[in-house]
This record gives sequence, structure tokens and C-alpha cells, in this order.
Amino acid sequence: MKILVINAGSSSLKFQLYRMHDESVLAKGKVERIGMETAILTYEPENGPELREVSEILDHTTAIRKVLASIVDPDTGVLKSVNEIDAVGHRVVHGGESFKGTVIVNEEVKREIKQLFDLAPLHNPAHLLGITAVEANIPEVSQTVTFDTAFHQTMPPLSYLYPIPMVLYKRHKIRRYGFHGTSHDYVSKHAAAFLGKPLEQLKMITCHIGNGASCTAVLGGKSLDTSMGMTPLEGLMMGTRSGDIDPAIVPFAMSKEELTLNEVNSMLNKHSGLMAISGTSSDMREIQQAMQDGDSKAELAFQMYEYRLRKYIGAYAAAMNGLDVLVFTAGVGENSAILRKAVCDNLTFMGIELDDELNAQRSGSERLISSPASRVAVLVIPTNEELVIAREAHALLNQPN
Ligand code: ADP
Repeated sequence: MKILVINAGSSSLKFQLYRMHDESVLAKGKVERIGMETAILTYEPENGPELREVSEILDHTTAIRKVLASIVDPDTGVLKSVNEIDAVGHRVVHGGESFKGTVIVNEEVKREIKQLFDLAPLHNPAHLLGITAVEANIPEVSQTVTFDTAFHQTMPPLSYLYPIPMVLYKRHKIRRYGFHGTSHDYVSKHAAAFLGKPLEQLKMITCHIGNGASCTAVLGGKSLDTSMGMTPLEGLMMGTRSGDIDPAIVPFAMSKEELTLNEVNSMLNKHSGLMAISGTSSDMREIQQAMQDGDSKAELAFQMYEYRLRKYIGAYAAAMNGLDVLVFTAGVGENSAILRKAVCDNLTFMGIELDDELNAQRSGSERLISSPASRVAVLVIPTNEELVIAREAHALLNQPN
């Protein structure tokens, strides 16, 4: 079975084509600057060099047409015909309360995704464009949608409700949803398998630390609580997002600085976090480099970032009354040995003991970085959200009717 995974954004679209029997990637790539005359298609077949083409791509339907043309190109393609694609799996950021797992796309599902536009105005409309663009190009193909929020639908009301008037939840579904669910799901399962222990018996905290960052308390394999909230702004300090702040700052700053709603939204989402404190970068590699060069603002940004992450780990250990496994994943979590060390060296009271040599080793594979004496196993598990989407589509479409 061959499954094409698509992550459609408003002006970009990423894709990976999987051969499911060995879960290998036949081809991958992206289309950037959709809507412009100088859109860029990048295509990388399994055994060939990366190809790049600049052309006019004004909408998602054209973008998908170009992607499919690359996949079946007589010289550089990996399939003879698009009919060899058995299914297309899409990433959808917001599934609200309706979706607790991956589903097959039908008219009803598309309607529900549309109803959630309000909760994810930057993401869900683009995902729906991706789905209809596939329909326009390969009308017969089965499509599935996997939601970033679905894994967190196991949260109990005590973690998903905000202590504000219930009418806001009842009327507008204002509650915690959580994001990066496919990643937290993937790394928690892989961590248990790596340790050879039953997931159902483990108290785990998974830290997905990339440009966006979230931390999840995974109790017995289920999300008990997670740091992102109704939107991906809550929780940890991130590259350009503030994470938790006193909500009273919003009206106060709006009145003092005469900011509009859009401006304050943009301030908290795009001009806060590492970027705001360092004054130079939202990128952890650059922050670390600046620290080495003696930049005190970069150092403060790093310290705040680490401190806020560590506080969440402490809170979630308390929420589960213990901790067996701590997992780091995504760009920063997988690659920043300095951040992992700073976090773990300040959590020795919980029985965490890092092995500095294992932590410092550079490797793209799953690995243990705690010492044998550590009461908590600390792991680095590279995430793979596209593979989860492909596996879910595969499982769903192979179910007996
Ligand atoms: P996204 O949320 O966009 O998917 P990623 O998971 O790719 O982001 O993470 C991007 C972040 O990972 C950036 O801040 C980047 O600096 C950081 N990162 C990547 N490699 C390293 C590294 N070797 N050391 C420290 N940080 C790194």
C-alpha cells in the first residue's frame, strides 16, 4: 500500500509518499509561496538528488497537480501512475471535541472541519484546501484526516476546563484542546517499546520542543494534561510565542500601547518568546551560539526557556503523583544537549540523573541518556508525525468492514 501524507498550510504544502510494507519514504518535498508567480516546488525522490522548480502556482489544486506530476515523472518519478496511490492522509491541526481519532474524509467530516475554522483560523482553512485539492486531482482516492488535538481528547474535565464562567465553554467551546498530539502519541509509544515496558503502567512526560513547544503528562499511554490550551499559544515559552502570561496583561498592554486585537495577538504569537527576550533570534541554535559569545540577553532567554519547561515537568510529575519516563523530542528536544542538561541537572530531587556522555552524543536515533542509577528513565525519541499519519490511514483503511 502507498500512502501520500500531506500537511497543507495557507501558502505552503509539505508531502511524503510512504511505501507501507517497510514504512520507507519513496519521495518527499514541499511547495512554498503558493499564490505567487514564483512558487517553489522541492521534490526529493528516494534514490535521487533534490530537485527544485520555480513556477507560477496560484492555488492548492495546482500545487497538488505539480506534486503528483513529479511523483509520476518518467525520469525522476517513483510511481508509474497516480492510481498507485492507495490513500492520502492529511494533518489537520484542530479537531475540536468532535474528533477523537483519525477518520476517513466524507462530506460530514469536511463540514465539521469547516465549523472549526473559528478555533484554528490560520490552519483549518488551509487543511480543507488541501483535501479539496486532492479531490480535484485524484477524485477516487480515499482520504483520511489525523488531528493534532485527537490524542488529548482523553483529558478529563479537571484538566481541560478553564476556571472561567461555564457559559463560555457551553456556548463557544472555550477549553483546553492541546496540540502536537500525533508527536506526543508517537514518542510515548516508542519510549515504552524502547524500554520494553507496558505503556499502560508508565507515568511519562513527553516534551515536544521545536519552534512551537508543548509538554504532556501521559498516564498509562493517555494524555492526562498538556501545556498548550485552546490555541497553541499557552504553556511553554517558545521561539516567538510567549506561552503562559498573566491574562490581565492583554487588556493592560492594549490600553497602554493602544494596540488592536490583531496587534496584541501578533505580539504574543510572533514577537515574544526567545525572540523578545534575546532581541536577536527565535532559533535555539543561534541563541546557544550567542550565549557562547557572551551575549547576556541570549543567556537570559535560554534560562527563562529552561526554567519554564522545568516548572511544567515538576507540575506534571505532581499531577501524576510520580514519574517513570521523561522524553525529549523535536528540533530543540532532540538536538540541544545543553537544554536537556540544564533541565535534568535541576531535577535531581525527583531522582533524575543524566549521563553527561550519553546526553552529549550526537545521534538521530532513539536513545537513553540517563544513568543506570536514575529513578526516571530519560530518553531522546526523534518524532515522526508524518509516519503516524500514514500508519493511521493504513490501519483505518485496512480495517474489516
Ligand atoms: P517546528 O516546530 O517548526 O517543526 P523543529 O521541531 O524543526 O520546529 O525545531 C526547530 C528548532 O530546533 C529551532 O529553534 C532550531 O534552532 C532547533 N534546533 C535544531 N537543531 C538544533 C541543534 N543542533 N541545537 C539546538 N537547537 C537546534
